[in-house]
Amino acid sequence: MGERETERPMQKTSPRVFVLCAPSGTGKTTVVRALLERARGQIFFSVSATTRPARPLERDGVDYFFLTSEEFQTWIERGDFLEHAEVYGYCYGTPGRPVLEALEQGRPVLLDIDWQGACQVRRNLPETVVTLLLLPPSREELERRLRGRRTEEQDQIQRRLREAQQEIRNYRRFDYVIVNQDIERTVTQIRAIMDQSGEMPCAPLPDLDRRVAELLGDRPPG
Ligand code: ADP
Ligand code: 5GP
Repeated sequence: MGERETERPMQKTSPRVFVLCAPSGTGKTTVVRALLERARGQIFFSVSATTRPARPLERDGVDYFFLTSEEFQTWIERGDFLEHAEVYGYCYGTPGRPVLEALEQGRPVLLDIDWQGACQVRRNLPETVVTLLLLPPSREELERRLRGRRTEEQDQIQRRLREAQQEIRNYRRFDYVIVNQDIERTVTQIRAIMDQSGEMPCAPLPDLDRRVAELLGDRPPG
């Protein structure tokens, strides 16, 4: 992945691929739904494939393509994925063809994937990708949201909280970092970044290092 937005080349061509990452439970899915509702079909949202079992209200082909491990392996061997990674013990991947077709049609693309996938997409589509990291307001609030969703068993919740640290530790690699305190405000901020094709001069979050240290439970710097 490239570095902060000031270090990216200034000349970029639209349309763009916007990669949204967040520790599990931050509110990424909620934010994506709100973004897509507002965009009324203008944004292409990529439906990923996964080996994770479907949650009660999830629909195959809408929320994810739910695959067996063998099917997922076949998709890899056929070269169907733009990127794929193991996340929280399951396989996840972005089908490549729909993304490339959307870009050819001139539509901005939104990917809800993890940081490993973001690195691969950055490599595979250089000059096209804008990366955004959503952070929770605090560790306590992240845990509250994750538990409040009631979709994971205790061991998955613990695993997700542990591995959330990895997503957060990589914060310097993202073009934009946004704290998801209020959904409406978060959606407005992301919309503004997308409307500017990622060229919006975005003031760095005040006290970002300290916030991240708190989220990680590290001693704050300085
Ligand atoms: P993710 O996709 O990042 O794992 P979800 O979108 O499933 O997270 O959200 C996790 C829980 O947090 C859900 O119950 C959701 O309603 C809630 N939530 C999301 N964003 C906010 C917010 N800004 N403030 C309060 N609760 C939120
Ligand atoms: P969940 O199981 O909560 O839906 O998603 C778990 C994590 O997997 C989230 O961080 C989500 O962004 C990530 N994820 C979803 N789809 C993909 C994908 O296609 N590729 C990668 N690398 N990660 C994904």
